[in-house]
Amino acid sequence: LMRDVHKKADDINAVYELREKLGEGSFSEVRVAQHRRTQKLVAVKCIRKRALKGKESMLENEIAVLRRIKHENIISLEETFETPTKLYLVMTLVTGGELLDRILERGSYTEKDASRVIKQVLEAVQYLHQLGIVHRDLKPENLLYETPLEDSKIVISDFGLSKMEDQGALSTACGTPAYVAPELLQQKTYGKEVDLWALGVISFILLCGYPPFYDENDSQLYKQIVKADFEFDSPYWDDISHSAKDFIVHLLQKDPERRFNCEQALQHPWISGGAALEKNIH
Ligand code: ADP
Ligand code: MG
Repeated sequence: LMRDVHKKADDINAVYELREKLGEGSFSEVRVAQHRRTQKLVAVKCIRKRALKGKESMLENEIAVLRRIKHENIISLEETFETPTKLYLVMTLVTGGELLDRILERGSYTEKDASRVIKQVLEAVQYLHQLGIVHRDLKPENLLYETPLEDSKIVISDFGLSKMEDQGALSTACGTPAYVAPELLQQKTYGKEVDLWALGVISFILLCGYPPFYDENDSQLYKQIVKADFEFDSPYWDDISHSAKDFIVHLLQKDPERRFNCEQALQHPWISGGAALEKNIH
Protein backbone atom coordinates (compact mmCIF):
# COMPACT_ATOMS: atom_id res chain seq x y z
CA LEU A 1 0.00 0.00 0.00
CA MET A 2 2.77 2.42 0.90
CA ARG A 3 4.23 1.90 -2.58
CA ASP A 4 1.37 3.86 -4.06
CA VAL A 5 2.27 7.01 -2.17
CA HIS A 6 6.01 6.87 -2.95
CA LYS A 7 6.99 8.39 -6.26
CA LYS A 8 9.06 6.34 -8.71
CA ALA A 9 12.83 6.26 -8.52
CA ASP A 10 14.63 9.57 -9.22
CA ASP A 11 11.40 11.50 -9.47
CA ILE A 12 12.52 13.92 -6.79
CA ASN A 13 14.91 15.66 -9.19
CA ALA A 14 12.09 16.10 -11.66
CA VAL A 15 9.88 17.69 -9.05
CA TYR A 16 12.36 19.55 -6.85
CA GLU A 17 15.66 21.25 -7.42
CA LEU A 18 17.90 20.18 -4.53
CA ARG A 19 19.94 23.06 -3.13
CA GLU A 20 22.30 23.87 -0.27
CA LYS A 21 22.88 21.67 2.73
CA LEU A 22 21.22 22.64 6.01
CA GLY A 23 22.58 19.88 8.16
CA GLU A 24 24.25 16.51 8.07
CA GLY A 25 24.14 13.37 10.19
CA SER A 26 25.81 9.99 9.91
CA PHE A 27 23.10 8.45 7.71
CA SER A 28 21.39 11.47 6.28
CA GLU A 29 21.63 15.06 5.16
CA VAL A 30 19.06 17.84 5.05
CA ARG A 31 18.92 20.21 2.06
CA VAL A 32 16.85 23.16 0.94
CA ALA A 33 14.90 22.32 -2.20
CA GLN A 34 12.64 24.28 -4.51
CA HIS A 35 9.55 22.91 -6.15
CA ARG A 36 10.16 23.40 -9.89
CA ARG A 37 6.60 24.34 -10.77
CA THR A 38 5.33 26.24 -7.71
CA GLN A 39 8.77 27.64 -6.66
CA LYS A 40 7.92 26.70 -3.08
CA LEU A 41 10.90 26.09 -0.80
CA VAL A 42 11.03 22.96 1.36
CA ALA A 43 13.55 21.02 3.44
CA VAL A 44 14.42 17.54 2.18
CA LYS A 45 16.01 14.92 4.40
CA CYS A 46 17.91 12.36 2.32
CA ILE A 47 18.48 9.09 4.13
CA ARG A 48 20.89 6.48 2.82
CA LYS A 49 19.01 3.20 3.06
CA ARG A 50 22.18 1.14 3.40
CA ALA A 51 22.47 2.53 6.89
CA LEU A 52 19.11 0.98 7.68
CA LYS A 53 20.04 -2.45 6.33
CA GLY A 54 17.70 -5.22 7.31
CA LYS A 55 15.18 -2.76 8.70
CA GLU A 56 13.43 -1.80 5.48
CA SER A 57 10.09 -3.15 6.66
CA MET A 58 10.46 -1.08 9.79
CA LEU A 59 11.08 1.90 7.53
CA GLU A 60 7.71 1.52 5.79
CA ASN A 61 6.14 1.35 9.19
CA GLU A 62 7.86 4.49 10.42
CA ILE A 63 6.87 6.44 7.33
CA ALA A 64 3.26 5.43 7.85
CA VAL A 65 3.53 6.79 11.38
CA LEU A 66 5.25 10.02 10.28
CA ARG A 67 2.44 10.67 7.84
CA ARG A 68 -0.07 10.57 10.67
CA ILE A 69 1.75 13.21 12.69
CA LYS A 70 0.03 16.59 12.53
CA HIS A 71 0.80 19.05 15.25
CA GLU A 72 1.61 22.76 15.16
CA ASN A 73 4.83 22.20 17.10
CA ILE A 74 6.11 19.33 14.98
CA ILE A 75 7.66 19.73 11.55
CA SER A 76 5.26 18.32 8.98
CA LEU A 77 6.09 15.69 6.42
CA GLU A 78 4.72 16.79 3.04
CA GLU A 79 5.70 13.88 0.81
CA THR A 80 8.27 11.14 0.37
CA PHE A 81 10.33 9.83 -2.54
CA GLU A 82 12.20 6.60 -2.69
CA THR A 83 14.96 5.14 -4.86
CA PRO A 84 16.61 1.75 -4.38
CA THR A 85 19.32 3.41 -2.28
CA LYS A 86 17.73 6.54 -0.84
CA LEU A 87 14.70 7.77 0.97
CA TYR A 88 13.72 11.44 0.71
CA LEU A 89 11.46 13.05 3.28
CA VAL A 90 10.06 16.38 2.07
CA MET A 91 9.29 18.65 5.02
CA THR A 92 8.05 22.17 5.55
CA LEU A 93 11.05 24.51 5.55
CA VAL A 94 11.42 26.52 8.72
CA THR A 95 13.60 29.62 8.74
CA GLY A 96 14.09 30.65 12.36
CA GLY A 97 17.17 28.53 13.10
CA GLU A 98 18.00 26.22 15.97
CA LEU A 99 16.94 26.94 19.55
CA LEU A 100 20.43 26.99 20.95
CA ASP A 101 21.76 29.46 18.34
CA ARG A 102 18.90 31.83 19.07
CA ILE A 103 19.59 31.72 22.78
CA LEU A 104 23.29 32.33 22.32
CA GLU A 105 22.56 35.19 19.92
CA ARG A 106 20.08 36.83 22.22
CA GLY A 107 22.36 36.53 25.22
CA SER A 108 19.58 37.29 27.63
CA TYR A 109 16.02 36.08 27.90
CA THR A 110 13.51 35.50 30.67
CA GLU A 111 12.33 32.51 32.68
CA LYS A 112 8.99 33.17 31.13
CA ASP A 113 10.46 32.76 27.62
CA ALA A 114 12.13 29.51 28.68
CA SER A 115 8.86 28.24 30.12
CA ARG A 116 7.05 29.13 26.88
CA VAL A 117 9.56 27.16 24.82
CA ILE A 118 9.34 24.11 27.07
CA LYS A 119 5.55 24.24 27.09
CA GLN A 120 5.41 24.05 23.28
CA VAL A 121 7.82 21.12 23.21
CA LEU A 122 5.85 19.37 25.96
CA GLU A 123 2.62 19.72 24.02
CA ALA A 124 4.25 18.20 20.94
CA VAL A 125 5.79 15.37 22.95
CA GLN A 126 2.47 14.67 24.68
CA TYR A 127 0.89 14.34 21.25
CA LEU A 128 3.64 11.94 20.08
CA HIS A 129 3.29 9.87 23.25
CA GLN A 130 -0.45 9.61 22.70
CA LEU A 131 0.33 8.13 19.27
CA GLY A 132 2.71 5.68 20.92
CA ILE A 133 5.81 7.40 19.51
CA VAL A 134 8.88 8.00 21.65
CA HIS A 135 11.07 10.71 20.10
CA ARG A 136 14.22 9.56 21.89
CA ASP A 137 16.46 12.26 20.45
CA LEU A 138 15.21 15.51 21.94
CA LYS A 139 17.97 18.12 22.15
CA PRO A 140 18.28 21.81 21.32
CA GLU A 141 19.64 21.10 17.79
CA ASN A 142 16.38 19.33 16.98
CA LEU A 143 14.20 22.21 18.16
CA LEU A 144 13.77 24.81 15.42
CA TYR A 145 12.12 28.22 15.28
CA GLU A 146 9.56 28.49 12.54
CA THR A 147 10.40 32.10 11.64
CA PRO A 148 13.10 34.64 12.59
CA LEU A 149 10.51 36.64 14.56
CA GLU A 150 11.01 37.04 18.30
CA ASP A 151 7.67 35.41 19.14
CA SER A 152 8.03 32.57 16.60
CA LYS A 153 6.74 29.19 17.64
CA ILE A 154 9.11 26.29 18.04
CA VAL A 155 8.88 22.97 16.21
CA ILE A 156 10.42 19.57 16.82
CA SER A 157 12.34 18.25 13.84
CA ASP A 158 14.14 14.97 13.42
CA PHE A 159 11.54 12.60 14.81
CA GLY A 160 10.45 9.05 14.19
CA LEU A 161 13.36 7.58 12.35
CA SER A 162 15.76 8.37 15.16
CA LYS A 163 15.22 4.94 16.67
CA MET A 164 16.42 3.25 13.52
CA GLU A 165 19.19 5.66 12.69
CA ASP A 166 20.69 5.65 16.13
CA GLN A 167 21.34 1.92 16.44
CA GLY A 168 24.60 1.56 18.28
CA ALA A 169 25.15 5.27 18.61
CA LEU A 170 25.23 5.02 22.37
CA SER A 171 28.08 2.55 22.47
CA THR A 172 30.13 4.38 19.86
CA ALA A 173 31.66 7.77 20.50
CA CYS A 174 29.58 9.58 17.88
CA GLY A 175 26.44 10.24 19.90
CA THR A 176 26.47 12.81 22.66
CA PRO A 177 25.20 11.22 25.84
CA ALA A 178 24.42 14.59 27.41
CA TYR A 179 20.65 14.18 27.01
CA VAL A 180 20.43 10.43 27.47
CA ALA A 181 18.37 9.06 30.37
CA PRO A 182 19.88 6.71 33.00
CA GLU A 183 17.74 3.74 31.95
CA LEU A 184 18.98 4.07 28.36
CA LEU A 185 22.61 4.10 29.47
CA GLN A 186 22.03 1.03 31.62
CA GLN A 187 20.39 -0.72 28.66
CA LYS A 188 17.28 -1.36 30.67
CA THR A 189 13.99 -1.31 28.84
CA TYR A 190 12.90 2.23 28.26
CA GLY A 191 9.81 4.09 27.21
CA LYS A 192 8.29 7.52 26.88
CA GLU A 193 10.03 8.59 30.08
CA VAL A 194 13.33 9.14 28.24
CA ASP A 195 11.80 12.14 26.44
CA LEU A 196 10.86 13.77 29.74
CA TRP A 197 14.42 13.31 30.99
CA ALA A 198 15.73 15.03 27.86
CA LEU A 199 13.28 17.87 28.44
CA GLY A 200 14.69 18.20 31.95
CA VAL A 201 18.20 18.55 30.50
CA ILE A 202 17.00 21.09 27.94
CA SER A 203 15.14 23.12 30.59
CA PHE A 204 18.25 23.16 32.77
CA ILE A 205 20.37 24.45 29.87
CA LEU A 206 17.82 27.10 28.90
CA LEU A 207 17.86 28.49 32.42
CA CYS A 208 21.58 28.62 33.15
CA GLY A 209 23.36 28.20 29.81
CA TYR A 210 25.33 25.05 30.69
CA PRO A 211 24.37 21.35 30.95
CA PRO A 212 23.46 19.54 34.19
CA PHE A 213 25.77 16.62 33.45
CA TYR A 214 29.20 17.19 32.05
CA ASP A 215 32.58 15.51 32.11
CA GLU A 216 35.28 15.30 29.46
CA ASN A 217 35.55 11.65 30.35
CA ASP A 218 32.54 9.72 29.03
CA SER A 219 32.57 7.07 31.73
CA GLN A 220 32.53 9.78 34.43
CA LEU A 221 29.68 11.47 32.57
CA TYR A 222 27.76 8.17 32.48
CA LYS A 223 28.21 7.80 36.22
CA GLN A 224 26.79 11.27 36.83
CA ILE A 225 23.78 10.57 34.66
CA VAL A 226 23.04 7.14 36.09
CA LYS A 227 23.01 8.67 39.58
CA ALA A 228 21.10 11.74 38.37
CA ASP A 229 23.90 13.62 40.08
CA PHE A 230 23.41 17.32 39.33
CA GLU A 231 23.25 20.57 41.30
CA PHE A 232 21.79 24.04 41.02
CA ASP A 233 25.18 25.68 41.46
CA SER A 234 25.64 29.07 43.03
CA PRO A 235 25.81 31.79 41.83
CA TYR A 236 24.25 30.80 38.48
CA TRP A 237 21.02 29.50 39.98
CA ASP A 238 20.69 31.96 42.88
CA ASP A 239 18.10 34.14 41.15
CA ILE A 240 16.14 31.39 39.43
CA SER A 241 12.72 30.61 40.88
CA HIS A 242 12.03 27.67 43.20
CA SER A 243 9.27 26.72 40.83
CA ALA A 244 11.71 26.28 37.90
CA LYS A 245 14.01 24.17 40.08
CA ASP A 246 11.11 22.06 41.32
CA PHE A 247 10.06 21.43 37.71
CA ILE A 248 13.56 20.29 36.75
CA VAL A 249 13.94 18.05 39.81
CA HIS A 250 10.81 16.17 38.74
CA LEU A 251 12.14 15.65 35.22
CA LEU A 252 15.74 14.76 36.12
CA GLN A 253 14.44 11.96 38.33
CA LYS A 254 16.56 8.85 37.85
CA ASP A 255 13.68 6.41 38.46
CA PRO A 256 11.54 6.61 35.29
CA GLU A 257 8.46 5.56 37.25
CA ARG A 258 8.77 8.55 39.54
CA ARG A 259 9.64 11.00 36.76
CA PHE A 260 6.92 13.44 35.63
CA ASN A 261 4.98 12.38 32.55
CA CYS A 262 3.82 14.97 30.00
CA GLU A 263 0.50 15.61 31.73
CA GLN A 264 2.17 16.22 35.09
CA ALA A 265 4.80 18.44 33.51
CA LEU A 266 2.17 20.51 31.69
CA GLN A 267 0.25 20.95 34.93
CA HIS A 268 3.28 22.16 36.87
CA PRO A 269 2.90 25.84 37.86
CA TRP A 270 6.14 26.81 36.11
CA ILE A 271 4.54 25.74 32.82
CA SER A 272 0.83 26.22 33.39
CA GLY A 273 0.82 29.69 34.80
CA GLY A 274 2.40 32.65 36.50
CA ALA A 275 5.28 30.91 38.27
CA ALA A 276 7.94 31.74 35.68
CA LEU A 277 9.53 35.08 36.43
CA GLU A 278 9.69 37.95 33.99
CA LYS A 279 13.28 38.86 34.89
CA ASN A 280 16.27 38.19 32.67
CA ILE A 281 18.47 35.17 33.10
CA HIS A 282 22.10 35.04 31.90
P1 ADP B 1 19.93 14.77 11.66
O1 ADP B 1 19.40 13.39 11.70
O2 ADP B 1 21.08 14.92 10.72
O3 ADP B 1 20.18 15.36 13.01
P2 ADP B 1 17.83 16.75 11.43
O4 ADP B 1 16.47 16.42 10.95
O5 ADP B 1 17.99 17.07 12.88
O6 ADP B 1 18.79 15.60 10.95
O7 ADP B 1 18.37 17.98 10.58
C1 ADP B 1 19.68 18.44 10.71
C2 ADP B 1 19.67 19.96 10.72
O8 ADP B 1 19.09 20.45 9.51
C3 ADP B 1 18.82 20.55 11.84
O9 ADP B 1 19.54 20.67 13.04
C4 ADP B 1 18.42 21.88 11.25
O10 ADP B 1 19.44 22.84 11.45
C5 ADP B 1 18.28 21.58 9.77
N1 ADP B 1 16.87 21.26 9.44
C6 ADP B 1 16.25 20.07 9.57
N2 ADP B 1 14.97 20.11 9.18
C7 ADP B 1 14.75 21.38 8.79
C8 ADP B 1 13.60 22.08 8.28
N3 ADP B 1 12.43 21.47 8.09
N4 ADP B 1 13.73 23.39 7.97
C9 ADP B 1 14.92 24.01 8.16
N5 ADP B 1 16.03 23.42 8.65
C10 ADP B 1 15.96 22.12 8.95
MG1 MG C 1 19.11 16.29 14.39
